[in-house]
Amino acid sequence: METERSQKEMLHVGRPNLGDVDVFKQLVDQIFENRWFTNSGELVREFETRLCEYLGVRNCIPVCNGTVGLQIAAHALGLTGEVILPAFTFVATAHALQWEGIKPVFCDINVDNHDIDPSKIDSLITDRTSAIMGVHIWGRPCNTDAIQEIADRRDLIVMYDAAHAFGCKQQGQMIGNFGRCEVFSFHATKFFNTFEGGAIATNDDELAAKIRLMKNFGFARMDEVIHLGTNGKMPEICAAMGLACFEKLDEVVSTNRRNFEEYRQGLDGIPGIRLISFDEIEMANWQYVVIEVDQGRTGVSRYDLMQHLHKNSVRARRYFYPGCHRMEPYCSLYPDQTSVLPRTDELCDRVLELPTGSAISIADVNYVCEVIRQHVPGTSS
Ligand SMILES: *Cc1c(COP(=O)(O)O)cnc(C)c1O
Repeated sequence: METERSQKEMLHVGRPNLGDVDVFKQLVDQIFENRWFTNSGELVREFETRLCEYLGVRNCIPVCNGTVGLQIAAHALGLTGEVILPAFTFVATAHALQWEGIKPVFCDINVDNHDIDPSKIDSLITDRTSAIMGVHIWGRPCNTDAIQEIADRRDLIVMYDAAHAFGCKQQGQMIGNFGRCEVFSFHATKFFNTFEGGAIATNDDELAAKIRLMKNFGFARMDEVIHLGTNGKMPEICAAMGLACFEKLDEVVSTNRRNFEEYRQGLDGIPGIRLISFDEIEMANWQYVVIEVDQGRTGVSRYDLMQHLHKNSVRARRYFYPGCHRMEPYCSLYPDQTSVLPRTDELCDRVLELPTGSAISIADVNYVCEVIRQHVPGTSS
């Protein structure tokens, strides 16, 4: 068994998927020829069209990153007061709200799908609540029907952090079409990347018009600012990467799927290790290989297992440890929220993400599984 790998050979979670490198290079030449780097250039406009076609959504506005996308979306929707969201998410979900002066109210999750538990939402609604923000964790869609039902009944807005869920479907419908809007991240570590970037998808043209203004300083046209705005623009180079990634999209999905199946076989029979699954029928991006470590059955803690993997050049990661509610500023601002999320705490202590994506081969997957098998006592081989 190998023990030492060079930095380049280390098996990292979140190694970027590359897209079609030749297409990217041609587009870079085009950018230099045009001498047009940003401000609604032709590549951003083309990328926007491709996004809308792919998602079957009326508007999908590219932005500089997912976090700013969430802030702009929250602002454009007029969210105020309190917004209900899960704490089992990347901290940017909460930060985007807090940055907008909105209190994030953390809701516990459903341990089956790791998403917000709709049955826990009602009791968190106050007269200050303006919205529910679901997060499609690992690209497994939230229960959008249940969330929408609550929102309609309680007169709340629904938006989604869809950072993980580009290329995923819910009931045959692409993610990007749910709630008032959905925000994607195209960060380098995500399924589909533009180095840094994101997009806000919405079927609401009025909302889209507002978002377009806001991401460009509130400019309606030259010399005419009609709204508070920020700089949320995606530059041409990022759109070029997005267009190059579209060329390889299906290939990345099949590589991810292949790796997932390999992990499924490789981890089978290891006591206390549960690989989280995806709907076999619904379209998914298969970008996340996530295991839950049940220490009572593995006999080793999640932390020990992670250390063992790290020592063997596998950069597995804990997610979303320790949970937004236990991070600053939330644990200081809202200390009462730290004790009311038992399912979230349970999951934050169990989850480990394993490397996949186009940088990871079948041999790599087998190696990772072998490293885990080695460390968990009582594994049958
Ligand atoms: C990556 C991520 C974000 C932030 O997106 P950036 O493009 O990195 O700003 C927000 N929410 C979730 C759930 C994420 O995983």
